Amino acid sequence: MSPSLLERLQARGYRLTAQRRAVAQVLEGENVHLTADEVLDQAQALLPEISRATVYSTLQQFTEMGELRELSLDGRSKRYDPNIAPVHHHLVCESCGSVFDVAHGIKAPTLPAAQHHGMAITSAEIVYQGTCADCR
Ligand SMILES: [Zn+2]
Ligand SMILES: [Zn+2]
Repeated sequence: MSPSLLERLQARGYRLTAQRRAVAQVLEGENVHLTADEVLDQAQALLPEISRATVYSTLQQFTEMGELRELSLDGRSKRYDPNIAPVHHHLVCESCGSVFDVAHGIKAPTLPAAQHHGMAITSAEIVYQGTCADCR
């Protein structure tokens, strides 16, 4: 298993205050794709005094450091993904907005050269849409 967000931050020698640690702890695990408000709720459960401003600025900082990915997949709120593996695809439930990761190594289909519009293609990401098991 690849190192978690908290382990990556520790490996970089990043100074983990109680607040930053709480945010990182909320974003542990597989298939974690939380909105900022969900992160806030869960971080406050760990550390009641943590403020909205701190949670939002910490999320932004982790994103700028390349340790979180910001996803806007379903046209709703942005979600934060601690899975920073170069390219991974997502499944999105059109009903509740749940997001799941597609295992690495599953490649997007190659785009025919006629569709490149002169671009050198470096990567592609797919969003699969449907209805999740809970919503069905
Ligand atoms: Zn659903
Ligand atoms: Zn993901």
